[in-house]
Amino acid sequence: MAEVSAASREMIERLIAFDTTSRNSNLELIEFIRSYLSELGVESELVHDQSGAKANLYATLGPKDRGGIALSGHTDVVPVDGQDWTRDPWKVVEQDGKLFGRGTCDMKGFIAVCLAWAPRFLEQARSMPVHFCFTYDEEVGCLGVRPLLAHLASKTVRPRMAIIGEPTSMRVVNAHKGKLSMRAHFHGLECHSSLAPQGVNAVEFAARLIVMLSDFGQRKSREGPFDRAYDVPFTTAHTGTVEGGTALNIVPKDCTFDFEFRYLPMEDPQALLREVVDYAHQQLLPQMRSVFPEAAIEFEEISAFSGLNIPDDHEIVQLAKALTGANSTTKVAFGTEAGLISDAGIPSVVCGPGDIAQAHKPDEFISLEQLALCEAFMNRLCERIAGD
Ligand SMILES: [Zn+2]
Repeated sequence: MAEVSAASREMIERLIAFDTTSRNSNLELIEFIRSYLSELGVESELVHDQSGAKANLYATLGPKDRGGIALSGHTDVVPVDGQDWTRDPWKVVEQDGKLFGRGTCDMKGFIAVCLAWAPRFLEQARSMPVHFCFTYDEEVGCLGVRPLLAHLASKTVRPRMAIIGEPTSMRVVNAHKGKLSMRAHFHGLECHSSLAPQGVNAVEFAARLIVMLSDFGQRKSREGPFDRAYDVPFTTAHTGTVEGGTALNIVPKDCTFDFEFRYLPMEDPQALLREVVDYAHQQLLPQMRSVFPEAAIEFEEISAFSGLNIPDDHEIVQLAKALTGANSTTKVAFGTEAGLISDAGIPSVVCGPGDIAQAHKPDEFISLEQLALCEAFMNRLCERIAGD
């Protein structure tokens, strides 16, 4: 069975015990990491959210006068509500070569190994520092990383590149799709359903836009652009939820629906959105206003993250391949903070222990084998940051 250090195991147990479901504060966990690093003589910078109840942590281990390699991960986890767990999600249990617990795979396992290796990074980092970037609210739309990136932008020395340790089974991922999530509000005119033509049926107009979105997705599947390296090799559009109307005998005045694009990194999400908004405003709205001049269609962004597309010959891709011993790269369907971090001028790849298939599930686990591979990765990183 794979050997995993006591330091990593102990750290995972500590991190999992904090219930950092995205709706909760993550400050207890952040304070734990801050005091751990402080005992090693490393100062942490915290970047709080507006409420002050959540924070990102940024720390540099090694020389402070130059940018190095950032190891980045989110501290929040998805809820366990309604999931059929057969054990306590907040207490790590080992069984059959696996460690079970919420966040073991996505992605406190990676953060734990980073922290367990902090003393070695400090000892070895002579030519290049290691930066820790630990964020909040990734699972609810990559919210936390944004203020962290704004904070980094104000610094004279910033990470030169980053590895985001989301579960990829330690494969090097240099590309993923982007996502744009939107909410559409249709405001029509209410009336008794027997007088339907005198009202503006918000549900019916919304339905026409939903059909347009579906046709739009169909067209993308026929006409592309395509990238065959993805399971679904084209940009997709999808409507997830619809709400509207109060009773069958009332023409509904309001309808709201949520939709998203999952787009190839080569596409411009704003151009995709513009096509939908133009259809709504040019085709649907004039018909609504011909009956009721105050009718309106509004769009609101719910969340977004950028696609990731780092060339194979880029320094960070080469480094990650050397650290994992991989000779190829992979593209994945799921999004991460890597797109946003790259957009901010810090080229990033995704590479971390665990299988994404375990993430967000009841009885989430990470295998000891994956953790051992992650530790081997960190050992090679130590050699790299030591230089010659
Ligand atoms: Zn994750």
